Amino acid sequence: MKILVVGSGGREHALCACLAQSPLVSEVICAPGNAGIAKIARRARVSADDISGQVALAEAENVDFVVVGPEAPLVAGLVDALELVGIRAFGPTAAAARLEGSKAFTKAFCIRHAIPTAAFRTFSFGEADEARAYLADHALPVVIKADGLAAGKGVVIAATRDEALAAVDSAFAGAFGAAGKEIVIEAFMHGEEASLFALCDGGTALLFGTAQDHKRAFDRDEGPNTGGMGAFSPAANMDDALSEQVMRKIVEPTLKGMAAEGAPFRGFLYAGLMLTSDGPQLIEYNVRFGDPECQVVLPRLESDLAAILLAACDGRLHEVTPRWSDDHAMTVVLAARGYPGSFSRGTVIDGLDMASSAEGVFIYHAATEIQDGMWRANGGRVLDVTARGRDLQEAHDRAYRAVALVDWPDGFYRRDIGAKALRQRR
Ligand code: ATP
Repeated sequence: MKILVVGSGGREHALCACLAQSPLVSEVICAPGNAGIAKIARRARVSADDISGQVALAEAENVDFVVVGPEAPLVAGLVDALELVGIRAFGPTAAAARLEGSKAFTKAFCIRHAIPTAAFRTFSFGEADEARAYLADHALPVVIKADGLAAGKGVVIAATRDEALAAVDSAFAGAFGAAGKEIVIEAFMHGEEASLFALCDGGTALLFGTAQDHKRAFDRDEGPNTGGMGAFSPAANMDDALSEQVMRKIVEPTLKGMAAEGAPFRGFLYAGLMLTSDGPQLIEYNVRFGDPECQVVLPRLESDLAAILLAACDGRLHEVTPRWSDDHAMTVVLAARGYPGSFSRGTVIDGLDMASSAEGVFIYHAATEIQDGMWRANGGRVLDVTARGRDLQEAHDRAYRAVALVDWPDGFYRRDIGAKALRQRR
């Protein structure tokens, strides 16, 4: 079968690599992809957000199955548009993708279905006075969130009342565009964060790995928030019992609730969790695989990903038991200097062949091009140097040895991915 993977990052590289190994798959196309992905899949230059362009591509190429990576086309209804023309697609419909597309929807949904999450109130544009009054005696810190997609930039954790009021004003003044027309003000939760992934077919949810991400740009969790600077799997702070508890108390009620509300959820459901003294609480849902978490979960999957995603698409997940390796995986993100602020493109990267041939190492490309026969950076997050190992230490050591072989003076990376978990083990 011919598969189209929509997206262009490290997550899509990992998806393509996994799908290309399936005996069910004759060809993988990736749109728009990148130069690294082009080594294992055919590239089509259609932007991930171009809904009609992606549908036209899938039709013209006679694609049998589409796997959508990023959230924006899901929220914009790519899966609905593909289904309308009779093409099978893996991912939630626009109605189900509201779990990521609208924080106000998700918080209200949690209340309707008794899913543990921080106490909150929602305010629409025009209710600035009410929001300010609500903040007057709210405990600090307090969290202010833009309702819609804001690429991780729509959340302010305010330590003082003035900061909180300023965040409300700037959201309503348009700092997050349409995403900030509505805001959620919620209680700050104390605890450690973890991510759990569930694969869903509308009725059944399968645990599909856990991971820990590193959001800040610099070592010791300093600097601005990013899309993610590295991750490892399984999460060190979630054992089987805790994962089961999250599935029972958070994921399964979500699936039941979405089905009952007429928007059954099919796709990867990514639960961002706070492990509090009152048990795990939902921070947010994402309706797709995490990036870079996907790059550390998929290398541990031993079953055929294409067969599993098809089963999810067809509502047959109850027939599936994915097999996982006991190995651990870690990825270190190499980003262009300046990221997440401004950075230059086109800088030359050397040493990739040597780095990717190291034992247990896979390099997923997040944003590369080839020009004049040389690899060049073409984005903020550029490479995900990933390694598997018998334990976290081995995965860590292999990944960082490979990172040292990459010669990219214009790039930077965090040197402490997984360091906290490794320290806690000793
Ligand atoms: P992401 O980039 O993770 O998709 P997002 O914009 O969707 O971010 P959230 O995940 O809701 O926003 O929040 C971003 C981060 O802010 C969380 O990962 C967490 O660190 C912090 N955070 C959010 N809500 C709370 C809360 N109620 N208590 C404590 N920290 C929080």
